[in-house]
Amino acid sequence: MRIGIDLGGTKIEGIVLDADGAERARLRVDTPEGGYEAGVQAIVDVIRELEKRVGGECTVGVAHPGAISPATGLIKNANSTRLNGHPLDKDLERRLGRPVRLQNDANCFAVSEASDGAAAGCGIVFGVILGTGVGGGVVIDGRPITGAQAIAGEWGHNPLPSPRDDERPGLRCYCGRSGCIETWLSGPKLQAEFERRTGRSLRATEIADAALGGDAAAGEQIELYCDRLARSLAGVINLIDPHAIVLGGGLSKIRQLYTRVPQLWKQYVFSEPELIVTRLLPPKFGDSSGVRGAAWLWPA
Ligand SMILES: [Zn+2]
Repeated sequence: MRIGIDLGGTKIEGIVLDADGAERARLRVDTPEGGYEAGVQAIVDVIRELEKRVGGECTVGVAHPGAISPATGLIKNANSTRLNGHPLDKDLERRLGRPVRLQNDANCFAVSEASDGAAAGCGIVFGVILGTGVGGGVVIDGRPITGAQAIAGEWGHNPLPSPRDDERPGLRCYCGRSGCIETWLSGPKLQAEFERRTGRSLRATEIADAALGGDAAAGEQIELYCDRLARSLAGVINLIDPHAIVLGGGLSKIRQLYTRVPQLWKQYVFSEPELIVTRLLPPKFGDSSGVRGAAWLWPA
């Protein structure tokens, strides 16, 4: 059996999957107060407790924010900043006395959906997180692609492709550049632009619902969002030509994306427009994709 652990900002969640991918146990605890060492111990405690419940040693995979720098072996770019600068994989392996696989949480989302989720059976899968940030992960034949800098799939900090005049130079991004895809496609940025244009303060999914209800300004905003997403994903399709793209994060609940974006990307993808077979799919496992993908880091 396989254990998957998902390290969120405030919670440590663990799951046990059996050989068929069915859930056998689940445990969720608050991230303890205190520093890094307390956090590591809490992860180990969750693993031990799950193994006690299913009565045997399991493989262990961990989904974490940020990435393990191939250059230093230390976690970088994590928004749970106390992980940064530590060799979490080595520290867990030493305590558990066995190998542990770690991956960025967006990569785990992609692994989950490619293993037995929405994109099961697809060879090349791009998993997209559209939430407060914009991230992504690439999975080929069930395995996550990490890369030389451990940033494979981080398309959110590419510039928005084919910007219109009123999209240049774009907003400043926290990464130091301007006009990043994330500054156009994150939930907060969608909300902010709608508020700027209409004076109305709605969440991203509320704007989408209003559009479905016939609200013209909301409809325009969602159409603009779909076009920007189509441009951005066309760049991904041209590069890795995925069989499926699975959306995750809060904005993946916007139903219009799944019909409109594949219509719009025809004009941007370098292929015969009517013969594009890349599918754009909603996630199957939603909030469980972190723990499930972490468990599937040890494939059958
Ligand atoms: Zn950026």
